[in-house]
Amino acid sequence: MSGLAYCDKRGRIFFDESSAPLADGGIVRTPDAAELIPAPDGCVPMLLPGRRPLTQRGPAQRRFGLAVALPAGYTRLLLPAYVKEEGAPALPLFGYTFACVVDDRLHVAAMRTDESEDWTPRYFAEGELDRIVDRRLGLDPSNRVLAQVALCAREYGCFTAQNVFLERGEAALPVSPKCNARCVGCISELDASVDLPAPQTRLTFDGTAEESARIAIQHFERVPGAIASFGQGCEGEPLLRSIAIAKAIELVRTSGAPGTINLNTNGSMPGALRRCIDAGLHAVRISLNSFRTATYAAYYRPQNYTLDDVLESVREASAAGLRVSLNLLTHPGVTDDAEEVAAMAKFLRNTRVDMVQTRTLNIDPEWYFATVGRPQEPIGMRAAIEAIRSFGVRVGNFTHTH
Ligand code: SF4
Repeated sequence: MSGLAYCDKRGRIFFDESSAPLADGGIVRTPDAAELIPAPDGCVPMLLPGRRPLTQRGPAQRRFGLAVALPAGYTRLLLPAYVKEEGAPALPLFGYTFACVVDDRLHVAAMRTDESEDWTPRYFAEGELDRIVDRRLGLDPSNRVLAQVALCAREYGCFTAQNVFLERGEAALPVSPKCNARCVGCISELDASVDLPAPQTRLTFDGTAEESARIAIQHFERVPGAIASFGQGCEGEPLLRSIAIAKAIELVRTSGAPGTINLNTNGSMPGALRRCIDAGLHAVRISLNSFRTATYAAYYRPQNYTLDDVLESVREASAAGLRVSLNLLTHPGVTDDAEEVAAMAKFLRNTRVDMVQTRTLNIDPEWYFATVGRPQEPIGMRAAIEAIRSFGVRVGNFTHTH
């Protein structure tokens, strides 16, 4: 039996096991015990300002809502349920996850969907990361892309940027300042009208083929089983730079350095993707929030392309034998809406995809529901994820080489 976990106005967490909390799965309801796990290491609790948590007895007065941001490797199953008070501030871009107390211990509505040593929480001794970054920058001082990932490693704690300096796993290769989408919750560039800070500052220059190739070659020569990925959180859409990316791939291939060249993209331009494939791309991860045209368009606000182009890019990469992953930006009440699962089934049953990464979409839930609408018939996130597996597709959270 779950009890209420809530905050006081200072953000301190309290438990009230006599109060039965409600959660939001697109429809406000009681959480199932099967949806709850003890809060894993790396969870970040968050006070929900101006929001009263909902219980079976109604809004809990003089108490504030609590949500948790999950660590990498977990997918959120339910949102916190609350009543928002007049003048409550908009919530910044985080993955708000329902939390409660069970047997005097904090629990969250989540499931583990991937495991990788490379994505476990990191802790550096005082100055340790700076020393490593400065030493590497000194080896290639004119490389602007390297300087960008140094900023991302230090300021944003970006794992793929840090990997360039820690010489492990998947390395970041950001090259594109522009984008042909205007995602409502873009992490590098929000609308000026939105009174919220974007978590990262968008790249301001066109990275060159030579700059990114030098980083990839060094990484491949020093890291066994390495991945180098174009398309990072700090940039726009990499397919707008497909000529430079294709040239960089050719430079890396020519060097003979062994590694996986991956492209994270919104998949908007199948022709530009074809250019990268012909140059020797190994893997692609295509992002989308929905397999339904209207729900996709409402969030991505695509410029001169549609969801059909995105799905065509998936088919193109699949037919070319690439390792294909989908970066599905999941949100309870949207991803598990029966109509959404049916649209997903129709596509995944007819197109080879190696993995669906069920990432948690970071956005204020009320803002997202106001953008794409609340569901008709949510089947539950756990059921939606099991449905993906039933189509013979692996579920994960990170880009793997195998
Ligand atoms: S595709 Fe990426 S960079 Fe472009 S608007 Fe969306 S989140 Fe931002």
